[in-house]
Amino acid sequence: MNHERARSLLHAYADHETGPIRRFFISRHIATCPSCLAELEAIQAMRTALRTNLTVHRAPPALAMRIASALPREAPPPVRRQPVRLGFAGAAMAGGLAGVALTLAVTRFTPQPDPLAADVLADHVRSLMANHLTDVETSDQHTVKPWLSARLDLSPVVKDFAAEGYPLVGGRLDYVDGHRAAAIVYRRDKHVINLFAFVSDDRSDASPRQENRDGFNIVRWRTGGLTYVAVSDVEAAQLMAFVRLVQSG
Ligand SMILES: [Zn+2]
Repeated sequence: MNHERARSLLHAYADHETGPIRRFFISRHIATCPSCLAELEAIQAMRTALRTNLTVHRAPPALAMRIASALPREAPPPVRRQPVRLGFAGAAMAGGLAGVALTLAVTRFTPQPDPLAADVLADHVRSLMANHLTDVETSDQHTVKPWLSARLDLSPVVKDFAAEGYPLVGGRLDYVDGHRAAAIVYRRDKHVINLFAFVSDDRSDASPRQENRDGFNIVRWRTGGLTYVAVSDVEAAQLMAFVRLVQSG
């Protein structure tokens, strides 16, 4: 990606609004371009300052409750644009309180950036494109596990599920959401599954949660103080079946 193109995408990049492939090319450019790196740091500093200094005007509790009860009760839809439409509907219903209602609705439904999902997608795509799928390539779990454990302070589940249709390919070191992570690589037919494992900030266990982002399926869960994230373009049901295998492994 050239300098002008990368430069024009830096704001979207800082907001985690770029897809994994574009994100990969932007980050590769930034790594070689001090000017873009400086610009990105300036954008991030500005965002932080804005978040810190922005004065929030809160509606009094009684008013907020009236507005909330006038708003349609619907779960936040998965599509990014819908919240604003919901907001307008809510605003129309609330009549004179339109401005406040709109602000409340938009604030409530704006999806939070998800650095973890953005990172695992970028890592997954990079592993496929950069010809750097594995640091240690072997289907032998007794090679991969000690290799990873020796380099990371953790011991994730590493098991060859060839008999179940998910052969182990190897492992590599990666980086997810500020954590050094083990990336354990499996295949399902022609598809690659990256299974990331890193020490959790939150030590409590959490059941697998599945989502689709930019055409990839992602399943994340926590167990035994580790966060696991599986990402692949295999079908959701197949990825979930893989996750069950890892959980029982
Ligand atoms: Zn540049």
